Amino acid sequence: MDMEIHVSTSRRSELIDITEKVKQAIAGKEAKAIIVSSPHTTCGITINEGYDPDVQTDMIKKLDKMVPKDEDYKHDEGNSDSHIKTSLIGTSVTIPMENNKLNLGQWQSIYLAEFDGPRERKINITLV
Ligand code: ZN
Repeated sequence: MDMEIHVSTSRRSELIDITEKVKQAIAGKEAKAIIVSSPHTTCGITINEGYDPDVQTDMIKKLDKMVPKDEDYKHDEGNSDSHIKTSLIGTSVTIPMENNKLNLGQWQSIYLAEFDGPRERKINITLV
């Protein structure tokens, strides 16, 4: 891991656009790609549309419907839905770089996917 960024989340479930924070962290660095990864078990990383915020709302809404908070789970911490959603979303993304800039599509943003907030989260960035 080469760098880390810190993000304060404010809701139990939300997608937070961290694209600018990642860009700032890697400014001036040389790499062919970066790996953005979450070291947490209830917070993932994903890439999706950054233009219309309704996409974030719809994704959270659908995940909440697919994986309800209150079911007959065994894990006694009471956050099994958070663990399951994190595994569905995944905990890392690899992004290619071109001329030391992120090669993201025009509408793509990098999201921290919080599923058990609010919390202070640490996200790792590895240069490849
Ligand atoms: Zn747990």
